[in-house]
Amino acid sequence: MSSSRRLEALVEALRCLPGVGARTAQRMAHHLLERNREGGRHLARQLAEAMDGIGHCPRCRNYSDDGLCTLCANASRDGSLLCVIEMPADQFAIEQATGYRGLYFVLQGRLSPLDGLGPRELGLDLLAERLAEGQVRELIIATNPTVEGEATAHYLAQIGRQQGVRSSRLAHGVPLGGELEYIDRGTLAHAFGARQDAG
Ligand SMILES: [Zn+2]
Repeated sequence: MSSSRRLEALVEALRCLPGVGARTAQRMAHHLLERNREGGRHLARQLAEAMDGIGHCPRCRNYSDDGLCTLCANASRDGSLLCVIEMPADQFAIEQATGYRGLYFVLQGRLSPLDGLGPRELGLDLLAERLAEGQVRELIIATNPTVEGEATAHYLAQIGRQQGVRSSRLAHGVPLGGELEYIDRGTLAHAFGARQDAG
């Protein structure tokens, strides 16, 4: 039983964060109340702005503030290269680790029929339309080397073939079962640089 109903509500709300259970939520709430109320207010404002203000880029499906994301709107990126990734965090990892200057397409998931994630949910019709425009010369498939990531990669390569676009896959160095987000920069840079034809 808590001494304050507001505190109870705050703890309950904090539990929506991934990996945060009751104890951690309690600690977070106490920390903000005792040591950092200004930080807590700032967090509340940023959360509200992000939840209401961030949408998806109509071109690459990554997060964006307003229409096109900053990458798609950047004329100095190479529009002949399109790298398909599962999650926005993968784009961040590739940007940090490699000198890639092309564009991205974000699936926001991977083919997973059991979770209700099919080609439509991953925006693959949008991807096919994009390839049909004719500007993309290489489709770089950078899905995770997991079972579902592999299945997704095969499907993507098929779309590439249908649209007459060469596709490539990241090479060795990415461990099987691994996730791009957690791979060290050097390994990811090597795998990216040595990508192979996806057939
Ligand atoms: Zn975009």
